Amino acid sequence: MMYHSLKDPSLKASFSTALLSSLAPDGGLYMPDSLPHFNEAELARLGALPFHKCAAKLARFFVDDKFSDADIATLCADAYNFPLPLKTLSGETLDPAMPEPNDEYVLELFHGPTLAFKDFAARFMGRAASHLMKGSDDSKTILVATSGDTGGAIGHSFLNQPGIRVFILFPNGGVSTVQEHQLTSMGANSNVKAIGIDGNFDDCQALVKQAFADTLLSEKHSLMSANSINVGRVIPQSFYYFWTSLQLKAAHPSRPIVYSIPSGNLGNLTGGLIARQMGAPIDKFVAGNNANHAFIDYLKTGEYRPRDSVPTLSNAMDIGRPNNFPRILDLFGADHGKISDVCYGAYFSDAETEQHMREIYGQTGYLMCPHTAVGHLALLEFTNTTTRAYTKVTVSTAHPAKFKDDVERVIGKEIPLPASLQVSVDAPSHKHSMPPTLDALADYLDAN
Ligand SMILES: *Cc1c(COP(=O)(O)O)cnc(C)c1O
Repeated sequence: MMYHSLKDPSLKASFSTALLSSLAPDGGLYMPDSLPHFNEAELARLGALPFHKCAAKLARFFVDDKFSDADIATLCADAYNFPLPLKTLSGETLDPAMPEPNDEYVLELFHGPTLAFKDFAARFMGRAASHLMKGSDDSKTILVATSGDTGGAIGHSFLNQPGIRVFILFPNGGVSTVQEHQLTSMGANSNVKAIGIDGNFDDCQALVKQAFADTLLSEKHSLMSANSINVGRVIPQSFYYFWTSLQLKAAHPSRPIVYSIPSGNLGNLTGGLIARQMGAPIDKFVAGNNANHAFIDYLKTGEYRPRDSVPTLSNAMDIGRPNNFPRILDLFGADHGKISDVCYGAYFSDAETEQHMREIYGQTGYLMCPHTAVGHLALLEFTNTTTRAYTKVTVSTAHPAKFKDDVERVIGKEIPLPASLQVSVDAPSHKHSMPPTLDALADYLDAN
């Protein structure tokens, strides 16, 4: 399958080129020229496979001939060696033997090594890029702006990969304590360096964009983006929607399915919409936002007004200018009516989010991270607008312990750190701080 630039569709690239170059030469986002579509019989066969095998079958359509079937099978088996359970709020996991199917689940996408859903895309992307660079003398420098979770997932996925340097730009003071430990504990002399930017996430993202726009700098270091502007990040995020919707359909054949997604840059939602277009049995998506709600306003009014971000409790969604909005327009031929038919949106304040985390925890014992709580609130609002009996899924994007300080304050109780987080918290921390200027970044890239 070929990819094209959303600015000038005559600019084409293979998957490998799109992955390694991130943006088209005209600065446009890459999108696949077409999507595969599966019929009922094919869907049933794919749904009966284990997740990593289903992912490999889907990936086959998106990559190019630099990847053999065996390469893809190994890549997916190696990347997806952790579970993605559909849990009820009382803590049971959906499985075919469950006698009474539930009508509500949380899809826990945080069982990968960095405990956020970003692992699904980062682990696929990291392995794909390393595969392409194997045996070549090329080197790549990955610049990644993070509001907290992407940097850890990308750093972890590329740690100690030969020929690759990773620079993670995060807002000083803008990520949780646990996240900062994760970002800064990958070793003083490793290929992954954490840079604390004196500014907010938008400043980090703008600095990365400036670096890419500087042709000299970009060519000198052979820069690659690991943010969701890279289509290689977005494609794998369709796999878990595809596979889990087939599990839900098998358990509850007659019920339509809705997924609610706590959203920031809209990469996760774009992955879901791609799965739906491939034939995944998903009726609707709900997007949940915090005080940064440009996409929800677009859904409600048809007008898109990106703006500066404001800080909130659900910091991974503090995005004022969602990167993937043009991809969503493209999937629907820019038809606002069609987009708002499939996507419902709602946004919530920090006070509402905190109250909801406390209520759900008190009523059920299920502890949600702030992002997941926003998604769950949005799902509840959606279900109040319809009389149809849905199977309802809230996508849980991170483990609550990643936001330990806030979560403990909200529920008034200490929560244990999972072992993998404890390791990062105990490891020595290394970061370099700098102002959000291209000169400072260029000097640091030269020196490291
Ligand atoms: C990245 C992130 C989001 C937002 O995902 P997008 O794909 O940018 O919309 C939501 N929650 C958490 C915990 C995240 O890390």
